[in-house]
Amino acid sequence: MALIVAKFGGTSVADIQRIENAAAKVVREVEAGNKVAVVVSAMSGVTNQLVDYCTQISPMHDVREYDVVVSSGEQITAGLMAMALQKKGITARSWLGWQIPILTNDVHGKARIEDIDTEELHKRLNAGEVAVVPGFQGVTKAGRISTLGRGGSDTSAVALAAALEADRCDIYTDVTGVFTADPRVVPDACKIPKISYEEMLELASLGSKVLQTRSVEMGAKSGVPIQVLSSFGEHIGSDLKGTLVTREESIVEQEVVSGIAHNLGEAKITVVGVKDVPGVAARLFEPLAKAAVNVDMIVQNISSNAGTTDMTFTVPRTDLQRAMKVLQEDTDFEEALDIRVNENVAKISVVGIGMKSHAGVANTMFKTLAAKGINIEVISTSEIKISVLIDEDYAELAVRALHDAYGLEEYCKIA
Ligand code: ADP
Ligand code: ASP
Ligand code: MG
Repeated sequence: MALIVAKFGGTSVADIQRIENAAAKVVREVEAGNKVAVVVSAMSGVTNQLVDYCTQISPMHDVREYDVVVSSGEQITAGLMAMALQKKGITARSWLGWQIPILTNDVHGKARIEDIDTEELHKRLNAGEVAVVPGFQGVTKAGRISTLGRGGSDTSAVALAAALEADRCDIYTDVTGVFTADPRVVPDACKIPKISYEEMLELASLGSKVLQTRSVEMGAKSGVPIQVLSSFGEHIGSDLKGTLVTREESIVEQEVVSGIAHNLGEAKITVVGVKDVPGVAARLFEPLAKAAVNVDMIVQNISSNAGTTDMTFTVPRTDLQRAMKVLQEDTDFEEALDIRVNENVAKISVVGIGMKSHAGVANTMFKTLAAKGINIEVISTSEIKISVLIDEDYAELAVRALHDAYGLEEYCKIA
């Protein structure tokens, strides 16, 4: 008997028929002798609608109330899923974030899970009951409802699996697993049978939205295996047809490049002609950090005027206005000659554990982009990834060309 957490994403619970199909998979897991906790997302489109309501009231709405509104989508699905299971003869009960409780910090809208009390859930699961938990939501120490950031139901599921010491966390979604690139962009992309937490963490944080980054962090920390699989078709999680995200040692064949991620919606800022003195980077980035601007890819250049430097960095386009306001109001930077912005950039990354021991991966990337006439604006690397910033208009072309260049369609033969 295994303990499994099964999470169903928005498209997998988009209407009553799909909720019933998802429930049927849970029933089959129970019939196979497994204990199952189910985590559900809001029905597809519901969270977007709820976010839109909040923005219509005021773009500057209170984040505590935002959480009250947007967490409600998952509550609906949890109740419906419990009903669908009951209809199929299963004893099932919904457990909202505050009832368990799933305790989070008080950073509303982007809260982090701090603790999950599993005592009651274990009792129920041991008694043969299915627990249905709405993803995305928790409760702060002050007793207010919190949410975990967009895509946060993945994190709810993996956190619950870790707390319950589950054997596996199955993430049912609208693709059959983690692919070598977003299958919506690269039609030839192939399913990766097994991937390490480390690579998945890079792919997720670099734009592959199939798993929320924090859910992968949580998997890596706890060691709970995560399986990404399709909610469509006949199979259930225990058939192991999806992609297993697991520890590096358990993957025999290490590919040099496992996948390509792309992130649209970035903006590049260059602060031209700041004094090249110790502490300049801290002075520039501290106020941005305080304003919760997410700064990425940072490059510092020596500019032609002696004693000054240019600083280039990227921010999510949604943070651009805030970043510009901070920079323009920062009197310390009055000496800067100019602040230049390029709003139309995308980050393309190749990721692979095998890169650690292989040279030439970067060169292949640069040559491939050059052959397509794509200019690279910024480069950043780590042991297992290379990211470049390019004009957003060429993002899809770049991803497809790189997918070819690294021969990633080879995965189709083993998947
Ligand atoms: P859910 O609603 O089930 O949480 P998401 O929309 O959040 O589903 O995530 C699934 C989507 O992630 C897929 O439809 C796919 O377009 C996208 N995606 C991006 N990169 C990848 C990748 N490398 N492999 C698989 N899917 C990816
Ligand atoms: N419903 C939330 C969202 O759309 C959480 C999730 O689905 O993971 O972001
Ligand atoms: Mg998702």
